[in-house]
Amino acid sequence: MAIEKTISIIKPDAVAKNVIGEIYSRFEKAGLKIVAAKMKQLSQADAEGFYAVHKERPFFNDLVSFMTSGPVMIQVLEGENAVLANRELMGATNPKEAAAGTIRADFAESIDANAVHGSDSLENAAIEIAYFFSAEEVVSR
Ligand code: UDP
Repeated sequence: MAIEKTISIIKPDAVAKNVIGEIYSRFEKAGLKIVAAKMKQLSQADAEGFYAVHKERPFFNDLVSFMTSGPVMIQVLEGENAVLANRELMGATNPKEAAAGTIRADFAESIDANAVHGSDSLENAAIEIAYFFSAEEVVSR
């Protein structure tokens, strides 16, 4: 088993619902450690850059507006197979299809306002961590 780091973002809908602690608790119960964290109001440029891979998709403009509609909580999670472990905790993109007990099943309203982001590969995790954190902001513990 490999120790990995991944990015998690608690999106504006879940921050507004005041469930940051409940979501952190799920990470910790699954053995994932929070090794960096910051709350941030994303600018349009921040959100467009982060989701650049989706810029040709029909939902891109709505996604950027949603991600800038309020503060997000961004964290680096570290643990065994952290990328997949976080994706399993999150559940499917569309909360209607998310397995019972997952973060999206419990806290998300819709495919647009779906509570959390998580890196989908180790390669993207490294890119996304570097997008939001400097090397000295990420601790190893
Ligand atoms: N999204 C959306 N409409 C769609 C598909 C995706 O608004 O039809 C948004 C949604 O917020 C999703 C994000 O775009 O979380 C990124 O999509 P992706 O397919 O990468 O899903 P994820 O990795 O977040 O599960």
